[in-house]
Amino acid sequence: MPATPFKRLILRAVLRDVYPMVIRLVAVPDSLDLTDFDDIFHAVLGWDAGIGFAFLIQGQEFNSFRRKTRSKKLRDFRLHRQEKFLYTLGALDQWEWELRVVDPQDGAEGDETPVCVGGRGAAPPQYSGGSTGYRLMLKRQEMGAKMFEPAQVETAIGVLAGGHPDSPSEHLGIAAGRFDRQHREPGSAPGTIRTAGAGAVQFARIQRTFGQAAAIPEIGMKFRVEVVCISDTGQEHCGDALEMERRQLAMETLGMNLCESKAMLESVQDFVVAQQAAEDLEQRRCCPNCGDRYAAKGGGKIELKTLFGVVKVANPRWNRCSCRQSGPRTFRPAAAWLRGTTSPELLYVGTKWASLIPFAKVADLMREVLPADADDKTIRRHGQATAQRMEHELGEERQLNLFDDEPSEQEERAPPDGPITLGIDGGYVRAAHKEGFFEVIAGRSVVAFRRTAKDEVPESKCFGYVQTYDEKPRRRLWELMKSQGLQDNQQVVFMSDGGENVRRVQTYLHPGSEHWIDRFHITMRITVLQQQSKSLQGEVNRAEEAVEWSKRIDSVKHLLWHGNVAEALDRTGDLLLDMGLIRAHSATAERLATGMTEFETCIRNNRAFIPNFGERYRQSERISTAFVESTINQVVSRRFVKKQQMQWSLKGAHLLLQTRTKVLNNELEDVFRRWYPQFRQQSAAA
Ligand SMILES: [Zn+2]
Repeated sequence: MPATPFKRLILRAVLRDVYPMVIRLVAVPDSLDLTDFDDIFHAVLGWDAGIGFAFLIQGQEFNSFRRKTRSKKLRDFRLHRQEKFLYTLGALDQWEWELRVVDPQDGAEGDETPVCVGGRGAAPPQYSGGSTGYRLMLKRQEMGAKMFEPAQVETAIGVLAGGHPDSPSEHLGIAAGRFDRQHREPGSAPGTIRTAGAGAVQFARIQRTFGQAAAIPEIGMKFRVEVVCISDTGQEHCGDALEMERRQLAMETLGMNLCESKAMLESVQDFVVAQQAAEDLEQRRCCPNCGDRYAAKGGGKIELKTLFGVVKVANPRWNRCSCRQSGPRTFRPAAAWLRGTTSPELLYVGTKWASLIPFAKVADLMREVLPADADDKTIRRHGQATAQRMEHELGEERQLNLFDDEPSEQEERAPPDGPITLGIDGGYVRAAHKEGFFEVIAGRSVVAFRRTAKDEVPESKCFGYVQTYDEKPRRRLWELMKSQGLQDNQQVVFMSDGGENVRRVQTYLHPGSEHWIDRFHITMRITVLQQQSKSLQGEVNRAEEAVEWSKRIDSVKHLLWHGNVAEALDRTGDLLLDMGLIRAHSATAERLATGMTEFETCIRNNRAFIPNFGERYRQSERISTAFVESTINQVVSRRFVKKQQMQWSLKGAHLLLQTRTKVLNNELEDVFRRWYPQFRQQSAAA
């Protein structure tokens, strides 16, 4: 069928006298007659097919009771942009819709289908008695039982009856007949009240289906979140936290969004803080000595940064009570609880996150998910403040050979827990101002077992510090082991790569301590030497020697495994002599000889710290701090050297290591609870 030219009318329909407003935007072809339009509009509302309508267009009434008028087409009126007309539907309920032509467009092919293109507000139940009945219905819902007093019911009936004083019964009859003949869906009783939105999307007479979503009347909802403060005396103060609106349900409109949650958190925080501060001032209002009220000297507010936004807290100044003769003339009552301008919660979260991810990322994250006002410099400052406070608590550096106990006491002690193995290793981070790299020390402390069987084996704990910055590394390790239950008669095994720096820290830290070089480091060095001798085997005239050297290196490895350091050093010395003969003639031999020299120095310096690995191994004792290698990665690399451009000052790196290890050890919350006894009490109890 060739399409006849038509206009597509965008109509805005507003339901009169109904609040909250109910609006529908529909797009219809102007080829529709008024009866078609009535059918379609009912479907849009999710209502049963109509039983009578009347249009008041351009000063004339066109109703459903006269064939001539009900078959008028929309185009017959040549409706203009912004032109309005009245449409009354439901002979009984008389819903009045004001329709306005928003936009008459030239219809394109495919536009003939009527659609609902938008709207707001749920349509009232079709048979709720028109605008007046609906209003009373809503009121009844709101007021509940109070509405049902007989006198009120009577009044309501009177109002309802008054709403339709001239309802022509014969009109109703005609309309009902038409409704029964043509429009009733099978099985639906006349007068069925449907809720909006559940209506048919397909209706009998026109047999046209519009897009399902478009045909469902749009839902409109408002939510208001309130905060109520209830005092001990039962007094209630109420504040609004958030208002939000919802229309058509979609995945993206389900529930709250981040923006709304931030707004809500911020207003709740504002309200709670204001109530707390006001109540606190009220409690302090009177002099505890004589009971007189303090006289205000001045007002004032202080801004506090919290996790849920910046809050302003009343911070007035009051005069000293006249019953007192000494002390300052004025004081600020809020000083009793006010400590700093940052809430511990914000300080904690900032410190924790900054210990795990870069400062700028923390700031981004906070701004994204919280109403907190954060930037990377503040985050860094908060973390450092936390670390410095922890450092301040650490106490003096432990003196060498200063042990707590008298030897005579030792006999009375209960047997200690299994040995603590403390592995220490070094890693490098990039220094600020292009000053190369500096070393950071990190490690892990492990308790082998608890003597009392029912005690669980404690979690291992990690530590870290910057050697060239830290003034009390021994105290640090000592406190760490103490926190793991170190006893004075407990065996402590230190393991390290044998480097001078870490050896000094561990020496004499504990009377029962052993100090071993980490087997892992010896093995690593030997592996490198073997690789170098392998490449020497590839050189002409050197293969025979290289193979022989490789065997001799293996024997050194074997000797060291059994802790035979003296013999190992003898053989290393021999090897060095032989290598010296050819090192000048081959670059590979030169590298091998250099490596051998360094190895020999390492073994010689640590000769006292090389145990019988084989024996320890057979006895299932720890012989390697490979676990420390992963610690270096965990404590240092993942936060400090992830990106090449990350540069650190000694102090910055050291302080961050302190909070980072506290976070990795799950101890930061305890630290905060020590400082702020009421901090996160629930999680402490859990
Ligand atoms: Zn007083």
